[in-house]
Amino acid sequence: MLFQMMQVGPLAVNCYIVGDDKTREVLVIDPGGHARQIHEMVQNLRVRVTGIVLTHAHFDHVLGIEALKRATGAPLYVGADEKFMYEHMTEQGKTFGIAVPPLPDPEHWVNEGDVIRAGNFELQVLSAPGHSPGSIALYNAENGVVFVGDVLMRGTIGRTDFEGGSMEELLRSIRTKLYTLPDATQVYSGHGPMTTIGEEKRMNPFTQNYV
Ligand SMILES: [Zn+2]
Repeated sequence: MLFQMMQVGPLAVNCYIVGDDKTREVLVIDPGGHARQIHEMVQNLRVRVTGIVLTHAHFDHVLGIEALKRATGAPLYVGADEKFMYEHMTEQGKTFGIAVPPLPDPEHWVNEGDVIRAGNFELQVLSAPGHSPGSIALYNAENGVVFVGDVLMRGTIGRTDFEGGSMEELLRSIRTKLYTLPDATQVYSGHGPMTTIGEEKRMNPFTQNYV
């Protein structure tokens, strides 16, 4: 697996470049800003971006999409249930005092069970609402990694006080979609350090009642 991580945008979103180390085709997950730096990284790695994937449509995760899409020509994948959030990004940005540039239309609205590919590298889409209505997690069983956006973070869970958020749904998503993955699965979040499913089951105070 080809793997690179960088922090981007005003709220230090973890942007991941992942893919097939043989064909050097990659997916970029959550380009939340610094599109030029992401594109430079892509060029330095000598990889080709075959998809841009959004874990959820909060403004801090989308700011680099338009420019990166223009630079790479890669199609964009967004959770189907996130359509409302995605299409009302300008209003969302205003609430936070941030001018969000117009966003391109996604080529693919994805659902639970869909598979997003880069070469022979696959990300399986898991629907994980709660932090936002159409949040998705992206699981690669072969390498035991899952990209969870802001659903679950080391020692904590995503906020649910934004529009369309639900604590009940978030905890259900974590319990039924993430905590059912193997304990050794490495969890890469939208913010903060890496963790594992087993570690969170043992240590995360917000999900203790669910293990
Ligand atoms: Zn978020």
